[in-house]
Amino acid sequence: MAARVVKVARPQPMTRRWTPLLVGLGVAIAHFFRNLLGFARGRQDFTVYFPEQRFVQPPAMRGMPVLVQMPNGKERCVACGLCEFACPTNCITIFPAETASEVERYPEVFDIDMSRCMFCGLCEEACPEEAIVMSRQVEIACYSRRGSLWHKQDLLVPEAELKPRLDYLRPQYARK
Ligand code: SF4
Ligand code: SF4
Repeated sequence: MAARVVKVARPQPMTRRWTPLLVGLGVAIAHFFRNLLGFARGRQDFTVYFPEQRFVQPPAMRGMPVLVQMPNGKERCVACGLCEFACPTNCITIFPAETASEVERYPEVFDIDMSRCMFCGLCEEACPEEAIVMSRQVEIACYSRRGSLWHKQDLLVPEAELKPRLDYLRPQYARK
């Protein structure tokens, strides 16, 4: 049996077609006049004059991953390898070693190839020790491929500097 095509005449009221367009136009016009008024009153925050001026990024921002350095100068990492396993681009390399302290293991080598890192944050999510976190650092350009290989000593950042990110993460991952 041949199929029969039925054309349904759907009503397209003008208001339904034009409403989203008018709403968008209204938002654009409102922004235009708000900025024009701000400019007339001497508002200065339209442009950030980088690098003299820096925009303070919120803690939710994901810059390059770094290692948390404890107040005693040591890394918090216990070389469990979970971040290395979770990393989708295989840019983390860890060589674990044993230590006589109660921590038992530490990373003798902890390298991240930043040319392959995509700032996804999966390493941070996988880490059970809050030892690797996403920083606000994004200025990591270099002139050679070798320069994009960051070693443990380059990656260590004092815990106090990473506090905003650590405080932000705990509720996100239901940590205490
Ligand atoms: S941010 Fe993503 S890509 Fe970069 S090291 Fe962590 S898991 Fe790997
Ligand atoms: S950074 Fe965290 S997940 Fe990665 S090896 Fe160290 S303790 Fe394990």
